[in-house]
Amino acid sequence: MRIPFIAGNWKMFKTVHEAVVFVKELKSVVKDVADVEIVVAPPFTAVHAVAEAARNSNIGVAAQDLYWEREGAFTGEVSAPMIKEAGAEYVIIGHSERRRLFGETDATVNRKIVAAIGANLASIVCVGESLEERERDETLAVLDRQIKDGLDRLTAEQVADLVIAYEPVWAIGTGRNATAAQAGEAHAHIRTRLRQWFGGDAADHCHVIYGGSVKPDNIRELIAEPDVDGALVGGASLDVRGFGDIVNKSRQAAV
Ligand code: PEP
Repeated sequence: MRIPFIAGNWKMFKTVHEAVVFVKELKSVVKDVADVEIVVAPPFTAVHAVAEAARNSNIGVAAQDLYWEREGAFTGEVSAPMIKEAGAEYVIIGHSERRRLFGETDATVNRKIVAAIGANLASIVCVGESLEERERDETLAVLDRQIKDGLDRLTAEQVADLVIAYEPVWAIGTGRNATAAQAGEAHAHIRTRLRQWFGGDAADHCHVIYGGSVKPDNIRELIAEPDVDGALVGGASLDVRGFGDIVNKSRQAAV
């Protein structure tokens, strides 16, 4: 049984102080929510402070990226064990901004997932097509490639513990979300491929969440789709009341 999974990706927003103030308030907004997995992903600088502020609460913490080596001469990079020690339980991997702006590929996504597993971090793996790919009717083929290559050589047990975020690139930060039908089709396709390639247990256990301009006023119809298990929320996760509203609405919708 998959309970809704709602994660806020703060991108390069919030100082340590702002992040801690946010989490303290979020704790009181969602204190009675036991049936949604709630995660926030602050910038690296705030991961430890946010994890401390969220300790013993129903809020988990994610980093937004990692590097696959444990340690070494890799200026600017942060490893999976470092992130784990800082208090995160999750890490976002392969976000479209990292693919587009920082040269991330399905091969690097795969290395990062393997590193995350080695440090006992759960991966939130982002996939999704660009506008040009959708217009060329390549959406499902793009998803196939990203899943096949990104999850290459993972075991069924490892795939079961992943969160896959379907994030059509044209819907991220644009205010234009996929329709429920578009999201539903992509999610059903991802679930089918997980079943074919990794087996029924992996497909049934793995959360497949939607990302792309999710807001309090569209979460209900998106999560009502049978294969949409939650949301990765960017802009709307920066406001504590709005994010709390999304959490609460995903809960009601899933009942
Ligand atoms: C994201 O950053 O993953 C995202 C979905 O952003 P937004 O909600 O702002 O579109």
